[in-house]
Amino acid sequence: MTAFAETHAAAALPLVDPFGRAISYLRVSVTDRCDFRCVYCMSEDMHFLPKQDLLTLEELDRLCSAFVARGVQKLRITGGEPLVRRDIMKLFRSLSRHLVAGTLEELTLTTNGSQLARFASELADCGVKRVNVSLDTLDPDKFRKVTRWGELSKVMDGIDAAQAAGLSVKINAVALKGVNDDEVETMIEWAHGRGMDLTFIEVMPMGDIEPSRYEQYWPLSQLRAGLMDRYTLDDLDYRTGGPARYVRVRETGGRLGFITPLTHNFCESCNRVRVTCTGTLYMCLGQDDAADLRTPLRASWDDAALLKAVEAAIARKPKGHDFIIDRTTSRPAVGRHMSVTGG
Ligand code: SAM
Ligand code: SF4
Repeated sequence: MTAFAETHAAAALPLVDPFGRAISYLRVSVTDRCDFRCVYCMSEDMHFLPKQDLLTLEELDRLCSAFVARGVQKLRITGGEPLVRRDIMKLFRSLSRHLVAGTLEELTLTTNGSQLARFASELADCGVKRVNVSLDTLDPDKFRKVTRWGELSKVMDGIDAAQAAGLSVKINAVALKGVNDDEVETMIEWAHGRGMDLTFIEVMPMGDIEPSRYEQYWPLSQLRAGLMDRYTLDDLDYRTGGPARYVRVRETGGRLGFITPLTHNFCESCNRVRVTCTGTLYMCLGQDDAADLRTPLRASWDDAALLKAVEAAIARKPKGHDFIIDRTTSRPAVGRHMSVTGG
């Protein structure tokens, strides 16, 4: 069979891992850089990759398109901060052709919101319907501390612009002991008052950071128990293709999500893989095994070698992660920071 025929024969097959999980969701980190340095995500003196190591926007497009051809239905652009990558809208614009063609169900992004005011309407124009904005506190001073120097007002402007452009906004907040444990109700009232879902995430032990993870870690079982006095939480079947489990808060009418990699492992339904900005494919957020896709991508103009490398990698997707945070475990579960694989 010629390489072209091989590529097209393979294109009909979805990617399925050894545990029977079809891979329908790809998260792509387009840069490891960020305009914030959130205390749970990065250390203060991060060293970023030299720009020449990054895949070009054209290469990122080719990589994403190869996954779409193999059954990926949902693409999430992330980072680092995706909106600080130069000309990133060109990537959104070119990927939007898969939405138009009906081969891609959803193109979306996770952002810290700092640049959203500039890009919201263009994102909507590229077919983006939903954005996740990460925001851990509504207090400007705490916000500056958590992000090490971020301006809350810019993120608020970004959220306003996104909603004005017709984007549905979901807020993601990392549950942080001593930071937002006194703000949960305020955040629920604020997000639901603006028609936004709010999801809390347990902090994951990824990468070395200055504060101890144990000091930051606030189990969502505790957060949830604390809400019981004030709210009635009705379990929902609603899913967005991710690991969040949702409840409806009866008093606000809004949706509240919980992502609990520590207290309740959700790996059995994992449908996703992640690619970094250098073209490294991670089959699991919480494991080190990875596959280099940049070499096969650059080796030839057709996608046969690339798809072979993708298949070989998916064939060794592990069953799950084993994150632990406790008093005695000081090493992170994986050495890379969340900003490398994009959350
Ligand atoms: N910069 C963008 C943002 O903040 O939304 C996208 C990348 S960021 C790495 C993606 C998500 O990962 C954010 O919601 C962030 O809060 C979360 N995150 C980063 N480090 C984390 C950690 N150690 N544990 C849990 N979530 C983390
Ligand atoms: Fe940047 Fe997002 Fe990491 Fe915060 S969580 S440092 S905004 S990449």
